[in-house]
Amino acid sequence: MSVEGDIYSETLAVAAKHAQLWLNTISERSINPSKNIDEILHSFGDVLPKGMTNPADVVERIAHLGEPGLMSMPSGRFFGWVIGGTLPAALGADWLVSAWDQNNAARGVTPTTAALEEIAGQWLKDLLGLPTSADVGFPTGGTMANFTGLISARYKVLSDVGWDINAKGLIGAPTVRVLAGEERHITVDLALRYLGLPIPTAIAADSEGRIMIDALKQTLESGSGPTILCLQAGNIHSGAFDPFEEAIELAHQHGAWVHVDGAFGLWALVSPKLRQQLKGIEKADSWGTDAHKTLNVPYDCGVSIVAHPDALRNSFGTHAGYLESFMSDAGDPTDKVPELSRRARGVPVYAALASLGRDGVTALVEKLVTNAQLVGEELKKIPGCFVMNDVVFTQVTFCFEDDERTKAIEERLIQDPTVWISGSHWQGKNVLRISVSNWTTDGADVAVAVEAVRRAAQP
Ligand SMILES: *Cc1c(COP(=O)(O)O)cnc(C)c1O
Repeated sequence: MSVEGDIYSETLAVAAKHAQLWLNTISERSINPSKNIDEILHSFGDVLPKGMTNPADVVERIAHLGEPGLMSMPSGRFFGWVIGGTLPAALGADWLVSAWDQNNAARGVTPTTAALEEIAGQWLKDLLGLPTSADVGFPTGGTMANFTGLISARYKVLSDVGWDINAKGLIGAPTVRVLAGEERHITVDLALRYLGLPIPTAIAADSEGRIMIDALKQTLESGSGPTILCLQAGNIHSGAFDPFEEAIELAHQHGAWVHVDGAFGLWALVSPKLRQQLKGIEKADSWGTDAHKTLNVPYDCGVSIVAHPDALRNSFGTHAGYLESFMSDAGDPTDKVPELSRRARGVPVYAALASLGRDGVTALVEKLVTNAQLVGEELKKIPGCFVMNDVVFTQVTFCFEDDERTKAIEERLIQDPTVWISGSHWQGKNVLRISVSNWTTDGADVAVAVEAVRRAAQP
């Protein structure tokens, strides 16, 4: 073996040892880090060594000193935000992606990673029931998946009125109307900010956070010109889905592009029991989702799906002379995502899907929902606890008699080492949220979560 081979082996063995230790003890660990950031900064120190350090020792030190500052995010008892853990196949594949170190920009240069992403893309469209002719890209996450859909939208609605955004930019361009539900995710606004588009006109939503069709109709009719509508599959408080069938039909009557933010909720489409709630969603023009949430692949991995490859490829395609002979009309990875150079982050998606199979993906999503519904039912039995949403997917939002009490319970829960459950504001109230997004969460974890809430709620 070469000297380099020896050095890699020693270093990777240290990394593997610590990774296994972390993952194999996660189910028993305290959920919170035992040190805060100041303590961790102090333990690492801030002096850049003058000379070299053995690579294996560097990795050992990171693992050893870093461990007390790790949040048990991949735990089945982590219910914060919308997170998700890591499937073994996805993690293994992610390690390979790093070791292979392919710059996955062009099909002709990195055939294996480009092919695996293409296959993963086909499988995803098939599982989700989205148009087979759509382009699939793997950006960093949901935000950039929204950006990818919306840049395609911007290109198309402006080109429909004779404005070439790539040549002329936005200055002097016809005004683009952007509409979105009042309960859209904040990253829709962030993606629009990248694009020089305005804060959307808010469409009123119902008590589950779904846009109301009458309000949409009124807004669409009150204006004209190039229009983009952002819908939502999966509200972060209620898990609810916008009424796609009617909304998309209305928007299309007005010539609008419809983008769907389905960061975690798009995955409901893999379940025959759940997909009825998303009826008509396949008629939208673009969809954004995360693989690092519901599908449980490691960070960072989003998925963008665009039904109009021309609009997408015209937005992102680059034609550098030095790459041209390796690019193809079939659509290179770089034509479908914001980046030129990037890791092959679709490969862990391929691995997750290959290991679960069609039935396994359905079972994963349905298990999350079953456990979320169980959480909802059990919380209702706690005196003073009100479950605010219909648990139609993976999210449960609840509160207590008044804001002060909910806040006090949140503060106790944040100290609880057994689970991570944190607060939010919804419908003018302090609330608590439980997001069941980890593939390992089971009935025992649900019981621990409910017990933690019961303890925190004791007078
Ligand atoms: C998480 C989330 C996003 C943003 O996704 P990132 O992966 O964090 O960039 C957008 N929309 C919704 C509904 C989300 O839950």
